[in-house]
Amino acid sequence: MFLAVDIGGTKTIVASADSEGTIVERVQFATPKELGSGVEMIRSAASTIGRKLSFEAMGVAIGGPLSIRDGKASPLHQAAWSDFSVREVFWGLFQCPVFFDVDTNVAAVGEYYSRNEKVDPLLYVTVSTGMGGGLIRDGKVFRGVDSNHPEIAHQAIPMVRNIENAKCACGLSDCLEGLVSGRAIERIYGKPPASLDEWEWEEVALHLAQGLRNASTIYSPEKIILGGSVAIGGGQKLLEQVRSFLDWNLRLVRCPEVAFSSLGKDAPIVGAARIAILGYNGGGDESEVLW
Ligand SMILES: [Zn+2]
Repeated sequence: MFLAVDIGGTKTIVASADSEGTIVERVQFATPKELGSGVEMIRSAASTIGRKLSFEAMGVAIGGPLSIRDGKASPLHQAAWSDFSVREVFWGLFQCPVFFDVDTNVAAVGEYYSRNEKVDPLLYVTVSTGMGGGLIRDGKVFRGVDSNHPEIAHQAIPMVRNIENAKCACGLSDCLEGLVSGRAIERIYGKPPASLDEWEWEEVALHLAQGLRNASTIYSPEKIILGGSVAIGGGQKLLEQVRSFLDWNLRLVRCPEVAFSSLGKDAPIVGAARIAILGYNGGGDESEVLW
């Protein structure tokens, strides 16, 4: 049995999975602000679902930035979890190899392996409270220098009108995330995404589409999978606007297929089980990245 954990800014999921990656049991709870109580709740949830079982390996999805080499993560939106020694702490609790990665990379892995027919390159983009993405190329997560996670949400976007309070969590004022994430929508439009009117949604869709156009031009993915509560909340209309924008504006690269995630909110937990299996089957060296 494998242990999978998705530590999100608002909720945490702890699950057991079989060697095929199928989730067997799961527990969900609100992520505590404090690191200590968060770790304790994960331990307690794992003991409930694992009972007397021991786990072959553990996979963890957590917010970046993080360093797989150092075994540490400092999730951007969880200040009290800064400098969290993910590998050391969980090894101490479960005595099994611990594999972890940025949640959006893990979700991309989950999406990639959940399909019978492999789509490659596959770009996964999630828009929820925050925003992020992961690219699978040749069956593996695309990484930058020093295994850095490329940050698709922090690309500069030309605004469709002058939006004065478009400020990103990273401090810049023209990031895609600062225009389309749930947090950004609250700040710009003064209401939650669910209350946006048709024109406001169109603006969000246009900004998102520009980001996907840039990413498509550079990576030329076969398919873009959109996940996250804001993107999915935009519904079929958002999807159609994004598709037609890409269709019109991608002149030199093939226009990728764009679809909503079939795993939805489960993409990171399914991916966490998968990286545990891939790591375990690959020999269990935790500092090696096999996905
Ligand atoms: Zn930014």
